Amino acid sequence: MAEEKTTGTNFIHAIIDKDLENQKYGDKVLTRFPPEPNGYLHIGHAKSICLNFGTAIKYNGGCNLRYDDTNPVKEDMEYVEAIEDDVRWLGFTWKEHLWASDYFDEMYECAVTLIEKGLAFVCDLTGEEIRQHRGTLTEPGKESPYRNRSVEENLRLFEEMREGKYADGEKVLRAKIDMASPNINMRDPVIYRIAHAEHHNTADKWCIYPMYDFAHPIEDAIEGITHSICTLEFEDHRPLYDWVLQAVGKWPTPPQQIEFARLNLTNTIMSKRYLKNLVDEGVVDGWDDPRMPTIAGIRRRGYTPEAVRDFCDRIGVAKANSTVDIGLLEACVRDDLKTRVENRNVVENPIKVVITNYPEDQTEELEIENSKEVPEMGSRKVPFSRELYVDGDDFMEEPVKKYFRLFPGNEVRFKGAYFITCNEVVKNEDGSIRELLCTYDPETRSGESQTRKVKGTIHWVDAKTAVKIKIRNYDYLMIEDENGEMQINPQSLVETEGFAEPLIAEAAPGDRVQFFRKGYYMADPKLTTEDEKVFNRIVGLKSSFKMKK
Ligand code: ATP
Ligand code: MG
Repeated sequence: MAEEKTTGTNFIHAIIDKDLENQKYGDKVLTRFPPEPNGYLHIGHAKSICLNFGTAIKYNGGCNLRYDDTNPVKEDMEYVEAIEDDVRWLGFTWKEHLWASDYFDEMYECAVTLIEKGLAFVCDLTGEEIRQHRGTLTEPGKESPYRNRSVEENLRLFEEMREGKYADGEKVLRAKIDMASPNINMRDPVIYRIAHAEHHNTADKWCIYPMYDFAHPIEDAIEGITHSICTLEFEDHRPLYDWVLQAVGKWPTPPQQIEFARLNLTNTIMSKRYLKNLVDEGVVDGWDDPRMPTIAGIRRRGYTPEAVRDFCDRIGVAKANSTVDIGLLEACVRDDLKTRVENRNVVENPIKVVITNYPEDQTEELEIENSKEVPEMGSRKVPFSRELYVDGDDFMEEPVKKYFRLFPGNEVRFKGAYFITCNEVVKNEDGSIRELLCTYDPETRSGESQTRKVKGTIHWVDAKTAVKIKIRNYDYLMIEDENGEMQINPQSLVETEGFAEPLIAEAAPGDRVQFFRKGYYMADPKLTTEDEKVFNRIVGLKSSFKMKK
C-alpha cells in the first residue's frame, strides 16, 4: 500500500469513527472499489480509489477490488488488466480480487427468498408499460396487474425465466415495495431481467441477470464490506440498498452505503462512454493518449502517482457536486516534480549564436546545477563552445517593452556560462535569421560580473554536441467555446523538434526532466528509443493557479 498515510479526515471518516466507537462492525473497516470493466479508469476513479484504499489504510482495514460485471453485454476483459495496472500504479494493493459474477448463484437465492417472503413478483409488463406505470415525482405510480401473483406461481415463473423459457424483455422480476413511495426507486423496481447473452465469466450458464440496485448491496454484504462508498447519484437509491439487505434478512449488521460528490474537473469530460468514443473515432491516439484524463493517459503524460494522491487529498471529500480547477492538479504535479527532477537545457525554434571572440577549436565543460530547488541534486558538465543555439523565444530583433532577453546591442547572462552581447543579426536571402554574431566577456565565467549586472538570463545548447529531439507540447484536450460548451481543442497537441544538451541522449523511456525555463517533460514510454528521444510535456512551469496552503 502507499507509503504515506492518508492523513486528511472527512465526513466519511467521521462516520467510521463513530461506528468504531459503537463497535457497529467491531474493529473492522472493509471498503471496496467496484469498477465496471467497460472502459479505462479516469482521474475521477482515482479519487474513488484513493478514498476507498486510503480509508482502509487509515483504519488498518482492507479494500477489495471487485469487478462489477453483472451486465454481460457491455464488458470487455481488455479493461480488466488495465484497471489492475492503474490501481497498482496509484500505489495500492487490494485485500481480495473478486468478481460480482461469482455471486450469481447466491443472488439468485436471495431473489427466491424475496419471492418466498412475498416481497418480489414476476411481471409481464413491457419495459415501456413499466415506465408508464411508474408515475412521476408528484403522482404515485400504478400497481402492476401481475403484482398479486401467488408465491408458487412466482417461483415457477422465475425458475422458468432462469431456464430460458422466455425471450429478452418478456418478463422481469420486481421487488414488491410501494408504488406510492415518494422515492421512485422504491416503486417496485426491477431486480432481475432476461438477457440471452454470453457472459465472460459464467458463459451461458445464466440468461437472467440481476440489476445493479439489487446486486450491489448483496455483493457488499457477501464480502462483509462495512462502508460502501459511492457517488452522489446513488443517494436516492440508498433506501433500496437498505431495503434489499433487510428484506433478504441474511446479514445481522449489513453494510452501509455512504455517498460523496463525484469529482469533476474543468477542461475535462469524465465518462467512460465519452472517452471510448474519442478512442473509437480516432480523435485521440488510444486510451493512453497523454491528453486523456484516463489514469493510463496521465501516466504516459508523466504525472506521478504521488502527485495524483496529493491532489485527491487536497480536494478532500465533498457532499455537494462541484467542479475542481484542473490547475490544482497541475500544481500538485509541479510541486512533486520540482523536488525530484533535474534540469536540462533544451531549445525550440533554435537560433544559432556565434561567439566571434571565442577560440575556434575550443570547448570547455561548464559545471551547471541540476536543480534550483534542491542543491543536493548536484551539478553536471555541459559543453560550451563558439557556436551555440538559443531558444527562438529568447531573441527579438526589435524588442518589445520590458524584454530583457537577447536583442541587438543587449547583454544577457547565458546560464552557467558567460555574459554575452548580441552585436549583429545575419540574415538569409529570404530575410530569415541565419545567425547572431555575439561576443562574450571571459571575465564573467562564473556567470557573474564584479562591475555590472544584467537583467536577463537565458539558456543555450552547444551546437556541435546538440542532440535533436522530438517534443510533444500538450494542451487541454477540451476547451470551452463562447457558449460555455466543451469542445475538442484543435491545438491540444503541437509537435516540434528541439536541440538538447548531450546528456539527453541518455534519457530512457519514462525518465522525467525539467527543460530549463520551459516545463517538465517525460521521455515517452512507448516512442522513445536509443536513437530517437520523444518528450511529452507533462506540465508547464508557471500557472496562474494559487495553491491554498
Ligand atoms: P463513468 O460514468 O465515467 O463511466 P462509472 O461511475 O460508471 O463511471 P464505475 O466503473 O461504475 O464507473 O465506477 C467505479 C467506482 O468509481 C464507483 O464507485 C464510482 O462511484 C466511482 N467513480 C466514477 N467516477 C467518479 C468520479 N468522477 N469521481 C469520483 N468517483 C467516481
Ligand atoms: Mg457505472
